[in-house]
Amino acid sequence: MAPFDPALSLSRRTAAVAEAAIIRMAQRARELTSQGHDVVSLTIGEPDFDTPAHIRAAAARAIEAGFTHYGPVAGYPELRTAIAKKLKTENGIDCPATGIVLSNGAKQAITNVCFAVLDPGDEVILLAPFWQAYEGIARMAGGVPVVLHAGLDEGFKVPAARIAEAMTERTRLIMINSPCNPSGAMYTRAELEAIAAVVSAHPHALVMADEIYEYIVFDDEPVSLAALPGMFERTITVNGFSKAFAMTGWRLGWSAAAEPVARAMAKVQGAFTAGPNAFVQQAAITALEGPRDEVERMRATYLRRREVIVGLLEAIPGIKVHRPAGTFYVFPEVSALLGRAAGNHRIASVDDLCDWLLEEHKLAVVPGSAFGEPSAIRLSFATSQAEIEKAIARLRDAVARLS
Ligand code: PMP
Repeated sequence: MAPFDPALSLSRRTAAVAEAAIIRMAQRARELTSQGHDVVSLTIGEPDFDTPAHIRAAAARAIEAGFTHYGPVAGYPELRTAIAKKLKTENGIDCPATGIVLSNGAKQAITNVCFAVLDPGDEVILLAPFWQAYEGIARMAGGVPVVLHAGLDEGFKVPAARIAEAMTERTRLIMINSPCNPSGAMYTRAELEAIAAVVSAHPHALVMADEIYEYIVFDDEPVSLAALPGMFERTITVNGFSKAFAMTGWRLGWSAAAEPVARAMAKVQGAFTAGPNAFVQQAAITALEGPRDEVERMRATYLRRREVIVGLLEAIPGIKVHRPAGTFYVFPEVSALLGRAAGNHRIASVDDLCDWLLEEHKLAVVPGSAFGEPSAIRLSFATSQAEIEKAIARLRDAVARLS
């Protein structure tokens, strides 16, 4: 019998998706820790807080009340209605409850978007730096990523004119994430209006607006693309409970779209997974409609940490910092460090830099190449101030060794 050869048996679709650098770095950090090394990790992409007690209690009550069966594919009507209400009052988006689809995390909502709207060969515009998962999901759905860049000098925001130039007959989807993982950048109303004008000129193009960090903002109020005149039908808003309510492990996200698009997305979800967890949806109603003081307390804590980490990074020569407007990430530009050496170890790329920081200085951060930006590194400040200070001291000492 011929031996099993995975290269012959696995789909091209899976081969097209790279292993996430974030996962690789976090895994190596764990390995070093288990070998007894004192590793500081700023790789984490989730709140370091526990889910607020009243939300946990609501989930426990829902289990006792029998929410342990399959629920509707698109989610419970009560939760869809609560989200439609939230969109109307907080975001100025007029979306019927029937336009809302609950999913297993925002990640599945993004998957639903791609499988519902992309045909093989359709172009998907990604605005780098972007969350790495976008590219893999788009590719798996047969999309062809078209990556547009914006550097630190542009605040990591791609101007509408560049999007206009990249639009073709095949452009089906533009993915926008504001506030953005990894850069923390947030598009202003004027910038979104300019993007809306570009999209409006292309009847076959839709926008996915990922607003999952909307409650973790520090300076200005976020603006929703779908709230701009004429944009609701052209936009699929994606959001979820993971970040705002510290509910990453609960796996609940959602999308808001015009009904035909929402129906197509529910069809995709019905084919892949059916409806999301029944009792988590009950707790989510409590999250949305209950007190928000914990959400605000977490935001205020991230804000204090932003000030600390930005201040410490700005004091390191060779590192340029863009102050994040939201999220719990900072994305400093480090190109001045590339090409330098520590002894006979030459740092050629941000990947080298991050490997060296981890192996030699026991500091784990994520290379910007993972987000389509090879001149920056991502540091998460979803960790205590003491850890942040320890991490940046290591970074400062490491950079001082480079010549
Ligand atoms: N969008 C962005 C920009 C994210 O950073 C994340 C989580 N890292 C998600 C979506 C997915 O969130 P979840 O699936 O936990 O809802």
